[in-house]
Amino acid sequence: MKIAVVGTGYVGLVSGTCFAEMGNNVICVDIDEKKVEKLKNGKVPIYEPQLEMLFERNIKQDRLHFTTSLQDAIKEAQVIFLALPTPPGEDGSADLSYVLGVAEDLGKILDKYTVIVNKSTVPVGTADKVSAKIAENAKVDFDVVSNPEFLREGFAVDDFLKPDRVVVGTRSDKAKSIMEDLYKPFTRSGNPIYFMDEKSSELTKYAANSFLATKISFMNEIANVCELVGANVDHVRIGMGSDTRIGKRFLFPGIGYGGSCFPKDVKALIKSSSAANYNFEILNAVETVNERQKTILMPRIKNYFNGALAGKKIAVWGLAFKPNTDDIREAPAHYMIRELLDAQVEVHTFDPEATENTKEIFGDDIAYGENYYDILKDADALIIATEWSVFRNPDFDKIKNLMKGNVIFDGRNLFETSQIENLGFTYFSIGR
Ligand code: NAD
Repeated sequence: MKIAVVGTGYVGLVSGTCFAEMGNNVICVDIDEKKVEKLKNGKVPIYEPQLEMLFERNIKQDRLHFTTSLQDAIKEAQVIFLALPTPPGEDGSADLSYVLGVAEDLGKILDKYTVIVNKSTVPVGTADKVSAKIAENAKVDFDVVSNPEFLREGFAVDDFLKPDRVVVGTRSDKAKSIMEDLYKPFTRSGNPIYFMDEKSSELTKYAANSFLATKISFMNEIANVCELVGANVDHVRIGMGSDTRIGKRFLFPGIGYGGSCFPKDVKALIKSSSAANYNFEILNAVETVNERQKTILMPRIKNYFNGALAGKKIAVWGLAFKPNTDDIREAPAHYMIRELLDAQVEVHTFDPEATENTKEIFGDDIAYGENYYDILKDADALIIATEWSVFRNPDFDKIKNLMKGNVIFDGRNLFETSQIENLGFTYFSIGR
């Protein structure tokens, strides 16, 4: 099939590459000229495991192309995917200007029946809005389909190639059959494809992300109670997660959720529920808990240093919002760093992939190390903000020799408390 993907970010590039891998001819379009130049030169502009290999193979086999021209991209396309940003607007609701802007342009240039598939995360009713926008100018038939994306950054290629499920919202038989054919290579080993109406499909994505965010905030609340009553959240987590109705995954407490999806999707579902005159009480609490959790280590750090933080040197391991990505959007590490800078701390950071993106935010206000030991030299404390696996088994003797202090504030519970304390560290973690 001939496919165009509009928006070549984390979702667009992974989707485009994976569709090309299944033998489709894919052209990805983006308004960011620098990004497109990079892609045309064979460079992947984001860090995502496994992506580079597929990207190179499909370029070599002439199935994957890049352009800045929407017109060129859609010339032969039978299916056009929209993988555009839907950031929170000022009031927290999803900003649809990117999606509707492209819809307007498409209406002017479509010259044959095409299926327009929305992969961006959008509020209920957006497929109708996109349809109406295209129809303002379109002279040909078209269908607008909702096909929310569930890939996780860090596992995006694997998730796309072997999805737990594919959700497609459409009431058009013609579009349904095209989508079925397109996804057959991904669902042939039994992974289901669920067809439903557009609104249910749009809401499914928000429901899934909001539920996962709820799980995280719930566990963070349990962890906070554990600390107050002297329980250990690791035991509680395993004890409760062994109930098959609950499940073991996504029960890890920490310093809150971040990223480009959970914070904005929780906000957007609160907003769209409220627009439908419904007060989504649980999600309001999920958000409040997460806001508090992002800086929960700060009072402990201040307390430990008796409020005298100015001039202290603190090392931070991890800048990405989670491991295996260079994405720093809404990263809890960044909230902590801002508070440390406000307290006049000298902040030294290391992240395996997210340093370049972080430099664009903090510039020279913080220091960036080449590796995770360098930044520990003469540090008064170490904060762990992202659970990269490389941090899980460090050389503690080396750490002790390098640091001036001996305190570790671990926002991701990487180590056993007794193990670290036996090594002579003072160790603070979450819920233990
Ligand atoms: P992104 O910011 O990484 O990528 C969006 C791209 O669209 C950017 O490269 C931008 O330059 C481009 N763009 C903006 N306006 C354009 C236009 N008019 N024409 C062409 N390109 C344009 O965003 P993302 O993380 O890929 O997310 C895209 C959507 O997918 C969002 O709605 C997001 O909620 C959803 N989503 C994201 C993830 C994820 O893990 N990142 C997972 C599932 C769903």
